[in-house]
Amino acid sequence: MNNVDLIFSGGVVGAGGAGFPTHVKLSGQGDSVVVNAAECEPLLHKDKELIRNYADRVVYGLSVAMQAIGASGGFIGIKRKYVDVIERLRIEVTSGMEISLLDDTYPAGDELVLIYEVLGRVVPPGGIPISVGTVVLNVETLFNISEAVEDNPVTDKYISISGAVKNPCTVCVPIGSSFSDVISAAGGVDIDEPAFVVGGAMMGYVESDLTKPITKTTGGIIVLPKNHFVVQRKLWGLSRAVRVGRSACDQCSFCTELCPRNLLGHPIEPHRAMRSLGFSANGQSDVKGTQFCSECNLCSYCSCPEGLDPRSICAENKRRILTEIRNGAPRWTNPPFRTERTKQHFHNRKMPTERLIKKIGLATFTNKAPLNHQTPIINRVVIPLQQHIGAPSTPTVKQGDEIQKGHLIASKNESALGANIHASISGIITNVTNNSITIEKT
Ligand code: SF4
Ligand code: SF4
Repeated sequence: MNNVDLIFSGGVVGAGGAGFPTHVKLSGQGDSVVVNAAECEPLLHKDKELIRNYADRVVYGLSVAMQAIGASGGFIGIKRKYVDVIERLRIEVTSGMEISLLDDTYPAGDELVLIYEVLGRVVPPGGIPISVGTVVLNVETLFNISEAVEDNPVTDKYISISGAVKNPCTVCVPIGSSFSDVISAAGGVDIDEPAFVVGGAMMGYVESDLTKPITKTTGGIIVLPKNHFVVQRKLWGLSRAVRVGRSACDQCSFCTELCPRNLLGHPIEPHRAMRSLGFSANGQSDVKGTQFCSECNLCSYCSCPEGLDPRSICAENKRRILTEIRNGAPRWTNPPFRTERTKQHFHNRKMPTERLIKKIGLATFTNKAPLNHQTPIINRVVIPLQQHIGAPSTPTVKQGDEIQKGHLIASKNESALGANIHASISGIITNVTNNSITIEKT
């Protein structure tokens, strides 16, 4: 098997985003690989911890990815403030690799923002990185690539646990561990009325069911008081965003002026989406540019002086427009694309992370999560069959089977995009459903 086949076989998917199957990304040809080590979500640190502890593996993964797509350049985008992490990388990088230093801003890890910062190229609206000759891979994805080409499939997940926990840290846990198992590994919660934000304060969601499993894409859990600004805003719901937005938006357009995608020249103007609420009974917007929203939440949590929620309006309209396109509606061909705007305003309108952290009320929490080398003891995992973009995987085991960690338990659906899934602990298969496979240690 060649390396891309091994990466497919090992079930590697994008560990920092939606879980796009990595073998598909690496089946194209490009001139460069950009490493997303920006990790711009406040309080999350697992990518830095992976580099601190395993820089050699991450850089090896980068060399495999470069070779797979025929790239002559590998660019590691990391914030310049992480001096010790950068030193670890400097020891490991080889010919053709560069470390690209980023400012401490949000959202530096937005794939399109990162490509502009690192390569000076702007991906057109609706385009993907390979359309400008590059592939973007997250740090943990590279780590997983380095393991997969040595025949070690993806079985574990690195995850930061931060906020109101006793010992904020990063841990490595078997995929399918419960959220509560992982929170225990950080010493447990240290407030009375906690809420749990999964995936990051800016782009994550509030989860109340702590039996839910860690997947290949879970990046972090932040524990916050129930009445915290971030929690409350995530619980607003669309109807409130529409009602308040319709009555209180004064069209100052700060949301648009500071929107990272607008600053790249894309035709997204959240203030226009907000304006359209006044002309629609059901909160729908005809503003087509909303389909280019990255859902970074900067407009809603930071830019809007009225405390409104343009992101929810843009995200809802984006989903509706994309559904219509999937159902046969024509795509917007050649949307306007103002690259001169990027050159004019991009750098002086970036949002400093420190300011963002203060603004959304996270400054009182420890902003570090060192790797805890003690792997928690996990006796039961529930492994979802859908942890990636594409179709759910098909179980290859049945109840009662005895399996070892690393064995294939569900294979990619043959006719669709997807990924293989492997046992994350050794034990007995105790349940197989359409959604998940349960393994219990014997
Ligand atoms: S920043 Fe707020 S008030 Fe200003 S246009 Fe945008 S949504 Fe309206
Ligand atoms: S969430 Fe707001 S700031 Fe972010 S891309 Fe969408 S419209 Fe722009």
